[in-house]
Order: sequence, then structure tokens, then C-alpha cells
Amino acid sequence: MAVLLIADVNDGHLATDQVGKALTAVAGLGEVHVLVAGLGGDAAAAEAATLQGVSKVIFAEDHAYCHGMAESTAALVVSLAGGYSHITGAATAFNKNVLPRVAALLDVMVMSDVTAVIDAETFERPIYAGNAIQTVKSSDAKKVFSIRTAAFAAAGAGGAAAIEKLAGPGEAGLSAWVEDRVAASDRPELTSAKVVVSGGRGVGSKESFAIIETLADKLGAAVGASRAAVDSGYAPNDWQVGQTGKVVAPNLYVACGISGAIQHLAGMKDSKVIVAINKDEEAPIFQVADYGLVADLFTAVPELNAKL
Ligand code: FAD
Repeated sequence: MAVLLIADVNDGHLATDQVGKALTAVAGLGEVHVLVAGLGGDAAAAEAATLQGVSKVIFAEDHAYCHGMAESTAALVVSLAGGYSHITGAATAFNKNVLPRVAALLDVMVMSDVTAVIDAETFERPIYAGNAIQTVKSSDAKKVFSIRTAAFAAAGAGGAAAIEKLAGPGEAGLSAWVEDRVAASDRPELTSAKVVVSGGRGVGSKESFAIIETLADKLGAAVGASRAAVDSGYAPNDWQVGQTGKVVAPNLYVACGISGAIQHLAGMKDSKVIVAINKDEEAPIFQVADYGLVADLFTAVPELNAKL
């Protein structure tokens, strides 16, 4: 058995945290080969080679695989599939685009958001917004699945795998990259941040969100938001945490003016330490919080900011 792990690459560098965690998830399944695809991915390939548990890095250097184009990347993965029993990657936007396409081309099922690998055929994944865990057994010849990385610790460095260059099938001709519009931010990326400070409907307006952002900046944190805050226009869409937003599991999650609906909890309840600030002592967020402060956030957060 061998595993092909599709690496996420950002600006020519490996998304080390995501790839390292995915690596830990599949470590018990056999040899792991990491696929790095795209022009200028030398640094990413070298970074992948140093991760503990990687037996080989396959580096497909072609313009076709830049910008995470799913059609061409899926064709590349399918061209390699013969040698692998398992094809996987972290459940990122990139892999969520590529893996279902790979599964369809191979005519197998895709298992998404795997949180535990029980054995070579059996996997666990959350359903009903994380309120139940489903155990899935696949009899497909090849298992294709994405990994919810929040459930795993990242593999460390110290490896020295060989890097094999490969010429893939190139452009699939089904799509063309036009542009990426990336929101510029000095803050850490939400899904991999060690600290996240989120605001909900209780923050009340876009202008008031500044106190949440100040707290985040003082803590070196990413900023998150509930869907109600996003829908009300207080925060941009890409800050949404939850079932239909991003799934985060930082060391510290600070929820301000968020009630704690199950759809929000689905995106943050695996955080190591949860702090909730809410003026309603009955708010469900306090059931998952390690530290709860029953207070008006407009008093508590500026006070916290001043102390920090
Ligand atoms: P509310 O529930 O309105 O809570 C606001 C809280 O702020 C209250 O607890 C209140 O006591 C407190 N508050 C008010 N003023 C203050 C103050 N001055 N100081 C302190 N506390 C104050 N939600 C998500 O977040 N993410 C998702 O991905 C998501 N996906 C969904 C998917 C589906 C299919 C559905 C149906 C819903 C989804 N939701 C999601 C919405 C979810 O059900 C809730 O409506 C939403 O999370 C509520 O956001 P909130 O906690 O900010 O607002």
C-alpha cells in the first residue's frame, strides 16, 4: 500500500502545517509520497522532503498546475493513481476542488473531512454539523479522501526524502486561470492561526468590529466571525467560522457576542481553549467555553485591549 498526498502550495511554499497534519493522519497506512505541483515549486518540494514520514516527493513542474487549477491537477493525479491505494490531502479549498474530481475520474467514492483513519478501509468523519461521527468503510479499490487537519498534530521536520521530477499530462484544456483576488492581510491565515478572535451579531456594526480587530492584533490572532455577523455586513465573508464557513482549531479561540449556535460550534469546538464573552449567561457558547465572561463586550473587550 502507498499513499499519494496532494500538497497545498502557497506562493511557492508548502502549507507545512496542513500537509504535516495530513501526513500524521495517514502515517499508519504505508509509504507516503507527497505530490507538489506547479511552476516554481522547488522550495515547496524541498520543504515537503524534510517532513518526517515522507518517503518520496513527486514534483510536477508545469505551468498547468499553477493557481490550483483543479481540472489539470486532477488529470495529473489520475495519471499517477495506478501506483497508489490511497489518494488524499488536507481538506482545504484546493483539495476540496481536486479530490472529488479525482474520485469521479477513477469512478470511486470520495470521503470528505476524515477525522480518524481506523484502518486501510475504514474512516471516521463528522456529520450533522459535527453532532455525530460517521464510520465509513469503503470497498473501492482506491480510497480517495480529504482530511480535516484540525484533528491531528503536525508531523515534524527531520526527514530527507528524495525528490523525483515528473512531467505530467499538462493542461487539461477545460479551464484557464484569469486572476486571483486575494485579500491582503498582515494577520495570520484563519484556518492555521494559533489564536482566533471572533465577533458575532452582538458586535452590532461594521464600525464596532474594530475593537475585535484590535484585540486580535494585540494577540497576533486571525479575526473570525459568525454567520450572523457576516450576513449583517459587519465582517467579510472569508472570516466566517462554522459549518458553512471555515473550520478552525487554534490553541485559543475568543468568541465575543456569539451565542454558540451548533452551526458555529461545528467550526470551532475543537479549539484547545475557548473563551466566551457574552452578556447573556444562558448563551449556549458557555457550554463549550473553558473560560466564560458574562459581560457587555463593549466594556470587557476595550478593557482587555487596554490591559494587553
Ligand atoms: P446571535 O445568535 O444573534 O447571538 C448574538 C449573541 O451576542 C447573543 O448571545 C447575545 O447575548 C450576545 N450579545 C449581544 N450584545 C452583546 C454585548 N453588547 N456584549 C456581549 N454579548 C452580546 N453560523 C455560523 O456562525 N457559522 C456558520 O457556518 C453557519 N452555518 C449555518 C448553516 C446553516 C444551514 C444554517 C441554518 C445556519 C448557519 N449558521 C451559521 C447560523 C447559525 O444558526 C446562527 O444563526 C449564527 O451562528 C448566530 O450568530 P451569532 O451568534 O453572532 O448571533
